[in-house]
Amino acid sequence: MSILVVGSVALDTVETPFAKIEETLGGAASYFTTAASLYSQVNLVAIVGTDFPREHLDFWRNRPVNLAGLQIKEGRTFRWSARYHMDMNVRDTLDTQLGVYAGFHPTIPDEYCSCNLLFLANIQPELQMEVLEQMPNARLTVLDTMELWIMTTRPQLTEVIKRVDVLLMSEEEIRQYTNRSSIVGGVHQLLDMGLQYVVVKQGSYGALLFGADGTYFSAPTYPLEEVIDPTGAGDAFAGGFLGYLSNVEPQKDGQYAIDEIKRGVVHGNIIGSYVCEDFSIDRLRKLTMDDIAARYRRLVAYSHFDSNWHSR
Ligand code: AMP
Repeated sequence: MSILVVGSVALDTVETPFAKIEETLGGAASYFTTAASLYSQVNLVAIVGTDFPREHLDFWRNRPVNLAGLQIKEGRTFRWSARYHMDMNVRDTLDTQLGVYAGFHPTIPDEYCSCNLLFLANIQPELQMEVLEQMPNARLTVLDTMELWIMTTRPQLTEVIKRVDVLLMSEEEIRQYTNRSSIVGGVHQLLDMGLQYVVVKQGSYGALLFGADGTYFSAPTYPLEEVIDPTGAGDAFAGGFLGYLSNVEPQKDGQYAIDEIKRGVVHGNIIGSYVCEDFSIDRLRKLTMDDIAARYRRLVAYSHFDSNWHSR
C-alpha cells in the first residue's frame, strides 16, 4: 500500500550543546518521507522555494519517492531554527519562516488518489484539512501537529482532529491542547473527539498507545548512549509506524489488527531512535531493514518480563 504525506520540507538550523548545523535538510515531511520510503512508496505533497538545493531532490529520486506533488515556487523555502538544552527532550524554537508555505495550497496529483495511508505531518491545519478533503477514501489517517498550531489555530486544528483516525502528540502538547495536567485524562478527552488511537510521544522515554477500544500499550525506547540531534524524531516515528503498516494486510473489516498497530508503534520508536544518531536525515540515508530488525529484536528482549513470579 502506498502512503501520502503532506507537511513541511524545510531548511533547518539546529544548535545542540555540542554542535551547530546550518541550513540542513529538515521539515516534518522530509523526515517522514525518508523513513517511510524504507518500507513502501511515498507520495510527497509539499512546496519548496527556488533556493532549495537540488541534491535533496536527487536523493529522494533514488528512493521509492514520488515527487509529482512537490511544488517548486519562486521564493524562499520554509526555514526553522531551534536550540536544544542539555536535556535534549527540551528545545526552544528560535525562528520559523513560512516562506513559500504562506501562499501554498496542496493539489493532489491523480496518481496519488489511490493511496490508502495518509500522514498529515506538521503544517498549518488548514492545509492538512485541504488534503484530507481531497482524499476521502484513505483507509488510515494519521495527524501530527505542534505547539504553534495549538496556540494560534486551535479551532482549525480541532476540526482536523475530529476527522482523523490517529493523533500523535507529545505529553506537553496534550497538556496544552486539553488544559489537563493528567496525560491519561487528556488522552480520554481526545479519544472522545472520535479518534481511534492517540499515540503519546515521550521523547527519549518511548511512546504510549491508547485506543478508543480501551487498548493501552507502552512501547519501549531504545537506550541511546549519545543523542546527536533529536530533530525529526516524531516525524521519523510516524514514518516507521505507517511504513510498517503499509506492508501489512488489514483485517476483513478494513481495520488493522491491534497487534499490528503495536508493532507499528515499535517500528516508529526504532526509526525515531536512529534519526537521533546524526543531524538532519543523515542516519536514515544509510539505514537498512537489517538495522531495523536488529533493534526490533533487542527491544523485544529489553521489555519482556515473565508473567510468572514467586510469592511466599
Ligand atoms: P520534530 O522534531 O519531530 O518536532 O520535527 C521538527 C521538524 O519540523 C523540523 O525539521 C522543522 O523544519 C519542522 N517544523 C518546525 N516547526 C514547524 C512548523 N511550525 N510547521 C511545520 N514544520 C515545522
